[in-house]
Amino acid sequence: MQHFRLVYSELMTSDVYVLRLEPLSGQLFSFSPGQFAFLHLLDPSGSSSLKRPYSISSDPASKYLEFCIKIVPGGQFTSKLSSMSVGSILGVEGPLGHFGLSDASNCCFLAGGTGVAPMMSMLRFVSRTKSNQNVVFIYSAKNSDSILYSSEMDRISKESPNIKIVVTLTQQLTPWTGELGRISKELMAKNLSDPKIYSYWMCGPLEMIKSFKQYASELGADPKKMKFEGWG
Ligand SMILES: Cc1cc2nc3c(=O)[nH]c(=O)nc-3n(C[C@H](O)[C@H](O)[C@H](O)COP(=O)(O)OP(=O)(O)OC[C@H]3O[C@@H](n4cnc5c(N)ncnc54)[C@H](O)[C@@H]3O)c2cc1C
Repeated sequence: MQHFRLVYSELMTSDVYVLRLEPLSGQLFSFSPGQFAFLHLLDPSGSSSLKRPYSISSDPASKYLEFCIKIVPGGQFTSKLSSMSVGSILGVEGPLGHFGLSDASNCCFLAGGTGVAPMMSMLRFVSRTKSNQNVVFIYSAKNSDSILYSSEMDRISKESPNIKIVVTLTQQLTPWTGELGRISKELMAKNLSDPKIYSYWMCGPLEMIKSFKQYASELGADPKKMKFEGWG
């Protein structure tokens, strides 16, 4: 575990914070876009008192680690995290996990809610490096107020012709010309040139991942080319 300083903390929507952390000393560890780290709350002696895993949402080239974290009512870790101010010190342990981006030519990312976090790291990486990977990202949010990273996703899809981002809302509160409803097999078939040729990264609530996996399988995707990261 390494000690990091909280350098940025903002509410992105009514219940999701974006946090940025920089190492107190030394270099930031290198990681593959898509990996996660444990965040540790520290006791007065600097030892870990509570830890939770969070996907890293920043580009590996950034000098900070970024996380997007939903405050869970009554949640042990997130209720404490939401009251921490810039300058606070946290522990970070990582990088961990096997959800990292591969060099597959055709990548389909499927996510709901804060499942966008590892996808943002991968999108930022593909966009910055001008990789020639073809990426389709289908993202489900509750309503237009709860779309995370909305303006950055607009910028990335404008700047990177190889990245297509489709947002679908499960509730329409304000005028919306995009997709409506949950991520479905039909929505996937509509946006993937040939579902069989894609590698899949699926992230979000466990029930949602179950559906993504079923739809991708029904569309002929290879189960060996599917990666999952789920919570909640
Ligand atoms: C690999 C990995 C990566 C993760 N990345 C992220 C991330 O990028 N962003 C993020 O916000 N979370 C992420 N999580 C979830 C995170 O680790 C915590 O579980 C979450 O923040 C709740 O912690 P807590 O201590 O506040 O709640 P707890 O005290 O652990 O839980 C309180 C109650 O809330 C329920 N609960 C827990 N999480 C959720 C949820 N998300 N929605 C609704 N109910 C919930 C629990 O079942 C429990 O009943 C990730 C989990 C894993 C395994």
